[in-house]
Order: sequence, then structure tokens, then C-alpha cells
Amino acid sequence: MLSTHEDIVLHRADIPEPARYYHSERAIVVRKGLLIEQERRYLWHELEHADRGDTAGHCDPSVEAVVERAAVRRALPLKSLRWAMGQELERYRVAEMLKLPEDWIQFRLDIATERERRELRDLQEGLWLEETA
Ligand SMILES: [Zn+2]
Repeated sequence: MLSTHEDIVLHRADIPEPARYYHSERAIVVRKGLLIEQERRYLWHELEHADRGDTAGHCDPSVEAVVERAAVRRALPLKSLRWAMGQELERYRVAEMLKLPEDWIQFRLDIATERERRELRDLQEGLWLEETA
């Protein structure tokens, strides 16, 4: 996912928060020792900050919410969701396949458009997709 962001450097360090983006250095720092699913989740989030040009420590909750929604949409395009949901019925198995946290899979479904919901429902006959309707 960093391949389209050649100018951004990734570091792992002992930091209190899961991840942080430094705009002046074009660097993302993620906390050492995160599970791969968590690391990927926070990396997508920080990449969104990078693309927006957000400066560290200046994001209010409304900005964070916008960033989080954009990040989960980028991390989980409909094509990926369809692929995983076409192979696995359980949400936790879909999360494992996509190497993202299960609650993020659910969050993505929560913010799916009606069109996206219809396409996914066709695959699963609405098993756990309906939980959020
Ligand atoms: Zn953020």
C-alpha cells in the first residue's frame, strides 16, 4: 500500500498511540509489536492523513471521523469485500483473509452505500450484513 506513496517513510517505534503521521518528514510511525491487522488498519488511517497533508496533533474528532471513513473505504474497496465475502461466510474469517481487524470490516459495512449493500447481500444473502441495517 506504500507503493503509491514513494515519498513516505514507515518507522516502527515504541510510541504510546498506535500510529502517528509527521507531515514535515513525510513519515508514518507505527507502534512496535502491533498485530498485522492492527498495523495495516492504522497505516491506512495515517496514509489518509498524509494525502490530506494533515499536520500531526492537529486533528479534531470531526476530522478524525472523516479520515477514518476515507481510510476504511480505501482499505476495503467493494471488489476486495466481494472477493472475501464470496469465499467466507464468517465475518472473522473475512477479516483474516483481508488482514484487517474484524471491527473495521463491520465499520466498512456500516458505511456502505445502498448499491454496495445490494451487491454484497447478493453474495451472502445478508447473513451478518443485515446486523447493521
Ligand atoms: Zn488520525
